[in-house]
Amino acid sequence: MSAARRVSIFGATGSVGANTVDLLQRQGGAEVYDVVALTGAGNIALLAEQSRALDADIAVTSDPTLLTALREALAGCRTQAAAGPDALLEAASRPTDWVMSAIVGAAGLAPGLKAAEQGGVLALANKESLVCAGTLLQTICTSHGTRLLPVDSEHSAIFQCLAGADRAELETIVLTASGGPFRTTSRDEMATVTPAQAKAHPNWTMGERISIDSATMFNKALEMIEAHLLFDAEPDQVEVLIHPQSIIHSMVRLTDGAIIAQLGPADMRGPIGYALNYPRRSPLPVERLNFADLTKLTFEAEDPVRFPALRLAREVMAAGGLSGAVFNAAKETALDAFLAEQIGFLDMADLVSAALDALGPEASSVADPPDLPWVLDLDARTRAFGSTWVNTR
Ligand code: NAD
Ligand code: MG
Repeated sequence: MSAARRVSIFGATGSVGANTVDLLQRQGGAEVYDVVALTGAGNIALLAEQSRALDADIAVTSDPTLLTALREALAGCRTQAAAGPDALLEAASRPTDWVMSAIVGAAGLAPGLKAAEQGGVLALANKESLVCAGTLLQTICTSHGTRLLPVDSEHSAIFQCLAGADRAELETIVLTASGGPFRTTSRDEMATVTPAQAKAHPNWTMGERISIDSATMFNKALEMIEAHLLFDAEPDQVEVLIHPQSIIHSMVRLTDGAIIAQLGPADMRGPIGYALNYPRRSPLPVERLNFADLTKLTFEAEDPVRFPALRLAREVMAAGGLSGAVFNAAKETALDAFLAEQIGFLDMADLVSAALDALGPEASSVADPPDLPWVLDLDARTRAFGSTWVNTR
């Protein structure tokens, strides 16, 4: 019998992480998988419950003040408890065959890069690590023989559409977008929306931060940069198409005019399961689409005036270098300030635009691939710029 497949999940307690745990359990759990590390932040009870259920070797919370609580929650089981950034890196350096990178934000970058040194598969939900340091992550994967598989539903779709195609046969990528909760809202009305309104995504159930990023379309902007890097596409080969039903997860246009689309229900267990079972397919517990019930699929052009994030993403792709690190850090700072009700909904794009004006020229001139300390330094300086921007308004 072959040895059990060793798996780790970074960000196990989040929306993508919990869906990954669900699939592992449905596919045999600890009987079939050798679960190495599970990580979380504040939700200690869930992290401990997952660790017991999957008999994990180690559970790590990123919050050092919660180590005692995690130890107590794990009392009586074999899972070791650890806490803090160094413990996350230690967990990421443990040998594995399959790792889910599903921490939210730039916090996922360092553990993701460390996990990329393990060989095997790196299933990437944390799009921020590609946006901040895409060439660094890709270089590490190449040099360690690690297979980077996209988990973002759009990129999983594009990856599936391109299976069997020669890269030279790709004309454009058609990245679909639901348009979020404010798809038909005027810019004047957007000025006064609250965090609670912005969190309510029409089709997908996701973490709070990505839900608000969907409302501003910063999520789609990150995904444009992600597609540009993952599929080696020129900026003008990345199209965005509003498709409110989120049934077509994305498409590719090939050079002969053919269009290949990937369709499915809005359930992240689809793309997560694809990455888990790759290169094979296994039955997944997702709803089956019934075409007779799909009364209509509709499409609209993107609107970079109401959603400046899309325009800013094109600037970042054109500028290259570490512009993505500035873009992401400014976006994260803006999101924190919006959640704290220090700035309005539309101010978020203004902050990102100002940060790109201030730090973008320096960022775009950094040689590829950058070192991690460079990325973290630029990330920190962008956050400082963002805080000053918020406080001096
Ligand atoms: P989430 O907020 O639900 O979960 C985030 C996870 O990260 C949790 O386990 C949390 O404990 C952990 N975490 C938070 N802050 C941390 C820190 N500072 N250090 C270490 N760990 C920390 O987020 P999510 O919706 O599951 O999204 C996770 C990632 O997947 C994001 O990069 C997101 O863009 C991407 N993604 C999510 C979806 C989705 O459907 N939710 C779809 C596509 C891509
Ligand atoms: Mg997505």
